[in-house]
Amino acid sequence: MSESFQDRVVVVTGAGRGIGKAIAKRFVEAGAKVAVVSRTEANSQLAADELNALGKGEARGYAVDISNTDAVVAVGKQITEDLGAVSILVNNAGVTRDGLALRMSEDDWDTVLDTNLKGAFNAVKAFQRSLLKQPDARIINISSVIGLMGNAGQANYAASKAGLIGFTKALAKEFAGRKVCVNAIAPGFITTDMTGELTDDQKAEIMKGIPLNELGTVDDIANAVGFLAGKGARYITGQVLTVDGGMVM
Ligand code: NAP
Repeated sequence: MSESFQDRVVVVTGAGRGIGKAIAKRFVEAGAKVAVVSRTEANSQLAADELNALGKGEARGYAVDISNTDAVVAVGKQITEDLGAVSILVNNAGVTRDGLALRMSEDDWDTVLDTNLKGAFNAVKAFQRSLLKQPDARIINISSVIGLMGNAGQANYAASKAGLIGFTKALAKEFAGRKVCVNAIAPGFITTDMTGELTDDQKAEIMKGIPLNELGTVDDIANAVGFLAGKGARYITGQVLTVDGGMVM
């Protein structure tokens, strides 16, 4: 039986679709009040409407560019006013701008680092006051196996995801005194819009490196988030949980 998160206030970034939406769904199903944050108004509202139709917890959509510090502070105030003190933050918003490092533009580097890494920092700053006061508070950062092993053509993405792991560990140490557990999840290849851009040849090549011989689902990641957010994970902090069919071991 899955754990109740009744009336807990949860923020999930990048929840307009894909992995983030599945994570938000997991919490709404468990009775939580969930801020569904994404870049576009359309996706955040659509996802929130879909989750409210489940008739369980509560979902509210918020549109913000997570890389914009002032805008994130403003939306953070609004979320706390609307839903109450936040006790679980899932930093999931992320983008790719692939290309070989030799030819990578400054803009492609900055966009990926600003969204994937600085975006998580911005969200922590926006919600840290709440998080540090709530019992059983958790921060879960969605990294990637690419942050652990690198990937040709993804220097910006690998750097952002490896950076998130360092950020997770530093924060785990800083927040441990207040019993806030901070962990990262490193998904392997999960079927979403992001991996939808891969060609069949690329997918076949990737499959060779996955011992379980299949791509993961968004629910595989949502289940891992549910575990790390739950009471059973109270003694786990500063860790990276790979959910990747055995790619990295
Ligand atoms: P996705 O389907 O492309 O969805 C990305 C989400 O992030 C969308 O909701 C998008 O908002 C939001 N987003 C993008 N830029 C943003 C910004 N500047 N501000 C606010 N929100 C922003 O991605 P996904 O595949 O679900 O991936 C989710 C996370 O898992 C990412 O961090 C990704 O790096 C990580 N990951 C994915 C895989 C995989 O195989 N899919 C593997 C490892 C790690 P809109 O919907 O409004 O556009």
